[in-house]
Amino acid sequence: MSMNANGYPPIVNNLIRRLAKLPGLGEKSAARIAMYLLQAPREEAEGIAEAIRQMRSKVRTCARCFNFTDSELCSFCADPARDTGQICVVEGTADLMAIEQSGAFRGRYHVLQGVLAPLDAVGPGDIRIREFLKRLDEENVREVIIATNPSNEGEATAHYLAKLLKGRDIRISRIAYGVPMGGDVKYVDRVTLERAMKGRQSFD
Ligand SMILES: [Zn+2]
Repeated sequence: MSMNANGYPPIVNNLIRRLAKLPGLGEKSAARIAMYLLQAPREEAEGIAEAIRQMRSKVRTCARCFNFTDSELCSFCADPARDTGQICVVEGTADLMAIEQSGAFRGRYHVLQGVLAPLDAVGPGDIRIREFLKRLDEENVREVIIATNPSNEGEATAHYLAKLLKGRDIRISRIAYGVPMGGDVKYVDRVTLERAMKGRQSFD
């Protein structure tokens, strides 16, 4: 068995190199996972490889909202109980899932699959904005809630969308920013506090 500098056989090193590229993993955790997969029951390691293969071959994006799905439409678009008049616009599927878990929204979503990022050459044609406008023409939408992230790119995207929607008979809102639950006003950054102040709400 040939070895190289770090002592692992090249085949193992190949896997470590690939795993180390995954989000949140570095060389060390990659090596630990590789060692685990090498020593775990064979079915377990092969099950992971097969699950990745299946996911990549069967999962695609929803024809309407671009959420991930294994059918033509995702479960939210296919659900007749959801309010079709409301669309919540998010950057990615993980954002959708987080909002969904809050239980605060019962409409439909639109996943942009990114944000406008001029510095990285990501323009309106690179994310799902055209498809979003098409939905507004085809579906009876009365309200759009823009839930892109409070980053420079997320803000720019929200403003861009709001501008595009001007003149349509649609209510447009942006999710509120604020002090996180369990947070402490004196430790919240200046920009967030400024936004929280501007977005203040009266007691019902
Ligand atoms: Zn969908």
